[in-house]
Amino acid sequence: MGTTMLTGWGRTAPTPASLVPAGTDEQLADLVRSAGPRGLVARGLGRAYGDAAQNAGGTVVDMTGRDRVLHFDREAGTVVVEAGLSLDRLMREAIPLGWFVPVTPGTRFVTVGGAIAADIHGKNHHVHGSFCRHVLEFDLLCADGEVHSVRPGDDLFWATAGGMGLTGVVLRATVQLLPIETSRMRVDTERATDLDDLMDRLTRTDDQYTYSVAWIDCLSTGRRLGRGVLTRGWHAKAAELSTKDRARPLAFDPRVRLAAPRRLPGGLLNRYTVAAFNEMWYRKAPRERRDEIQPLATFFHPLDGVADWNRVYGPRGFVQYQFVVPFGAEEVLRTSVEAFASAGHASFLAVLKRFGAGNDGMLSFPDAGWTLALDVPVSAGLSPLLDRLDELVAGAGGRLYLAKDSRARAELIARMYPRLGRFRAVRDKYDPTGVFTSDLARRLAL
Ligand SMILES: Cc1cc2nc3c(=O)[nH]c(=O)nc-3n(C[C@H](O)[C@H](O)[C@H](O)COP(=O)(O)OP(=O)(O)OC[C@H]3O[C@@H](n4cnc5c(N)ncnc54)[C@H](O)[C@@H]3O)c2cc1C
Repeated sequence: MGTTMLTGWGRTAPTPASLVPAGTDEQLADLVRSAGPRGLVARGLGRAYGDAAQNAGGTVVDMTGRDRVLHFDREAGTVVVEAGLSLDRLMREAIPLGWFVPVTPGTRFVTVGGAIAADIHGKNHHVHGSFCRHVLEFDLLCADGEVHSVRPGDDLFWATAGGMGLTGVVLRATVQLLPIETSRMRVDTERATDLDDLMDRLTRTDDQYTYSVAWIDCLSTGRRLGRGVLTRGWHAKAAELSTKDRARPLAFDPRVRLAAPRRLPGGLLNRYTVAAFNEMWYRKAPRERRDEIQPLATFFHPLDGVADWNRVYGPRGFVQYQFVVPFGAEEVLRTSVEAFASAGHASFLAVLKRFGAGNDGMLSFPDAGWTLALDVPVSAGLSPLLDRLDELVAGAGGRLYLAKDSRARAELIARMYPRLGRFRAVRDKYDPTGVFTSDLARRLAL
């Protein structure tokens, strides 16, 4: 069988693997039973930034062909879906019926299997928790080729939730959706003049909103350090829509309109152009605007309007650095923002959010505290900066997000994830010979 070079969304560190379509349950079970010494891992839509869905020299199973909705209970809002179904497709099915996915990341182009494996979070984490809190059951193909039906009380549940595909292949899942009256959002936007102001606003009033996030201008320094724009909101009620929109309150048909240039002219993405962009973005936001009605896709997935936008960073790719630190460790956040601002890395995608309480996921990322996520093009000087921040994050009892990571050191991950030992015990029980593995698993000695 031929090999395919695979990368994550950040397009760093390509590795060759035998990429095989998942086929039926039986074909997949055969693949698992006959996996070679380099093992096997499932892959969804490849939106993890790093090497989680790569397996150099081994097998990678492409799950995206298994994308059917198997059952939709329109009364209860529960769906049984194949794990390769994208949240984009699920939304197109569910929204017109008055149901929304319980948690959506910043892109609709992730699969349900990928959402479970990373136990993804959205802007509503402080209210609804992570994705797996809304998963009622899933079928997991384990290393012995048997399918296990897994529920929240089972050891396999919280090992698989956030377990980055290392406990088996999720075949199907039952997900509880959220009821909505419309496909629009009611949104409040406000500007914050610096990091203190931003954090103060989030702390004081986040509880009033179902969804909350803040964009940070990561290049401004001095008095403006950490200035940003908060966008927070709720699902709009039918009565809040304009007369025209009320005719089709649940319409949902977002398009991918633009294609990003394959590569921007040399050096266009530098600290000066990005600083100018950030300035424009900040000024463009209203100082304060209440109750604006926006389409769902504008609020949740603005980047999905541009196909392949990850290519603008050029051939060296980019890193997304995301960490969470507990409340009380605000200094780590401040130090990080200062470090990025003074190093001048050209990041225009930087977001800050407050997480609510965590869950039982042994390798789940979200936990109560502040999470900062930013895209940074790979460049000289980036590695030492991130290594230094990793230490600060670990020292404060925080952690990095495995779905975004492509570069951390193994010993730090063990400090950041205190339940790693429990995860390994469950994995060893169901996969004693280590059939399920990936570049990420080897790099971080998971
Ligand atoms: C623009 C953008 C915005 C994002 N925003 C957020 C965000 O707001 N919040 C958030 O939490 N994440 C976010 N992410 C990350 C993304 O949600 C996760 O990486 C998610 O896991 C990607 O799903 P995927 O289907 O593309 O999986 P892949 O990237 O293909 O794989 C990711 C992991 O899932 C495993 N996996 C995939 N399918 C299965 C399966 N069927 N069974 C078992 N394991 C499986 C893989 O082995 C791998 O470990 C964002 C990513 C992008 C590109």
